[in-house]
Amino acid sequence: MSQTTMNADANVGPEVDLLIAGGGPAGLTAALVAALEGLDVLLCEKSDQVGGTGSTSAGTLWIPGNSQSRAAGFNDSGEQADLYLSALIGEETNRELRNAYLRTGPMAIDYLCARSDVQFFPCGKHPDYRSNMPGAAIAGRAIVPEPFDGRLLGAEFWRIRAPIPEFMLFGGMMVGKADISRLIGRFDSMANFIYSAKLFARYLADRLRYQRGTRLMMGNALIGRLFYSLRKRQVPILFDAPIVELTGDRRGVKGARLNVGGREILVKARKGVVLATGGYSHNKRFREAFMPQPVPVHSMSYEGNRGDGVDLGQRLGAAITREQCDSGLWTPVSIVSRPDCTKGLFPHLVLDRAKPGLIAVNSAGRRFVNEAASYHDFALAMFESNKTTPSIPAWLICDAPFLGKYGLGVIYPGHRNPKKFIDNGYLVSARTVEELASKIDADPAQLNGTIVRYNGFAETGVDIDFGKGETELNRFNGDATHKPNPCIGPVATPPFYALAVWPADIAVSTGLATDADARVLGGDGKAIPGLYACGNDMASVMAGSYPGPGTTLGPAIVFAYRAAMHAKGAAL
Ligand SMILES: Cc1cc2nc3c(=O)[nH]c(=O)nc-3n(C[C@H](O)[C@H](O)[C@H](O)COP(=O)(O)OP(=O)(O)OC[C@H]3O[C@@H](n4cnc5c(N)ncnc54)[C@H](O)[C@@H]3O)c2cc1C
Repeated sequence: MSQTTMNADANVGPEVDLLIAGGGPAGLTAALVAALEGLDVLLCEKSDQVGGTGSTSAGTLWIPGNSQSRAAGFNDSGEQADLYLSALIGEETNRELRNAYLRTGPMAIDYLCARSDVQFFPCGKHPDYRSNMPGAAIAGRAIVPEPFDGRLLGAEFWRIRAPIPEFMLFGGMMVGKADISRLIGRFDSMANFIYSAKLFARYLADRLRYQRGTRLMMGNALIGRLFYSLRKRQVPILFDAPIVELTGDRRGVKGARLNVGGREILVKARKGVVLATGGYSHNKRFREAFMPQPVPVHSMSYEGNRGDGVDLGQRLGAAITREQCDSGLWTPVSIVSRPDCTKGLFPHLVLDRAKPGLIAVNSAGRRFVNEAASYHDFALAMFESNKTTPSIPAWLICDAPFLGKYGLGVIYPGHRNPKKFIDNGYLVSARTVEELASKIDADPAQLNGTIVRYNGFAETGVDIDFGKGETELNRFNGDATHKPNPCIGPVATPPFYALAVWPADIAVSTGLATDADARVLGGDGKAIPGLYACGNDMASVMAGSYPGPGTTLGPAIVFAYRAAMHAKGAAL
């Protein structure tokens, strides 16, 4: 477990340079950079595992001008990204933080790649989420962690929080985006078959020794790599040790109290405390204060993220940046019944909504959004539509050929037994559109009219209502082989299907106000000495907007880096 030697006296713990609270991407990065810079570091984590929401994430980082993409031939620059952000959130919004973010992003990533096992590769084409705005990029801004071999962690592999079950095959095998097409087409070519067989063989071998597959991808790879790098440097991590109180005051934070096994211990921190406890997603008070009304009930954030960091900062007089558009970063989710009788949330991020032959309707049976918009924009449209017509849940509607070819939610493409999902209540099915409408309490004539109109767009290729298929982002997630519009196809062949989706936060954007070095600001706008915040505890530099893939992990890592460097006294 922890390599920290705790003082036997009750309430007296170690004295360190920097105390970091929270073992998600932000906290792990702050700890790693501080340790690499020679600081004496202690990380305290509330649960018995590292990873938080980060371990269940796709692991993408939005780093404009990153050198990994540049080396792969994709040109981008901080200036172009700044132009884009100006169009998206305004010329001067978060100017100081934004400058720091754009300037430091590539530097922070190169630093991690050069000094640790945290390695990234470029995504190549991965359009920004408002790809039709000035300065938006189609390629070159997103990077993802290299897959990680969890076996390197040996007996500590279980410390990496697992992805959600819906993101794993056979109860424990992770696959990346590149694997999906090869697995689906495993009988299409010998190369695909061998590739798939190797993945499966590795997984079987893993299961002889581990509780799940050890080929870690996406967010799990990021956490695996950060944790492995920390372990290699013997950075102490205290598990089951939530931060419960800051010591010191508005004039300077001196350390914190941790609850370790029911006993409070005091940790003195000479250079400060970094709050990285994942934000307020599961804090009822903050949800009610910051989120849209009626307050969304679902969250995909780690359930241990209860707003502890924001609360501790607030108690010390820190300012909370509230003017964040809708205060969360959202996705539509469907509700899954798991084999163990619990409920899971499946995020409809990129796999189904943009494909040709799917529409989203509200309770009136009307479309209200470009279904191929980013998951964040889709959920914002749900909030907007809900102001006049009940739209939470909204319904994704498709027909039999669509379901077979593209899948829907947890029903993967090529699945031959949708009945299982109808029987467990996940999916609604009907022989006619009218019958489907009555089953989802929508007006049959209206739903029929909506579908007839949309089917006309499938013929012309032009969605004159919402412009589905018009942007690079839409087309990227559509089906390039489908003509004339890769995102629009008819909903025509029974049975017809409907799936309910709700908005859920995958991250929050309201948080502690900070300066560009992630120093928490008091109500007077001045930094509180010795107190830092990063990740979702820090108010988002993007001011609640969602410019592109990696909008929260990018800033989480960059500002964690800046916090650690500031604590070290290094000039950036
Ligand atoms: C399905 C999904 C996909 C996503 N994909 C992406 C993506 O590709 N790119 C992207 O940018 N974002 C993505 N996100 C969002 C991203 O995962 C989060 O924004 C990110 O993990 C936040 O990092 P964090 O370190 O602030 O918090 P977390 O990752 O949630 O970690 C917080 C940690 O703090 C610990 N903690 C809580 N309270 C205390 C306490 N009192 N003391 C000590 N420790 C405490 C928790 O136990 C947890 O380990 C995704 C989210 C989801 C749900």
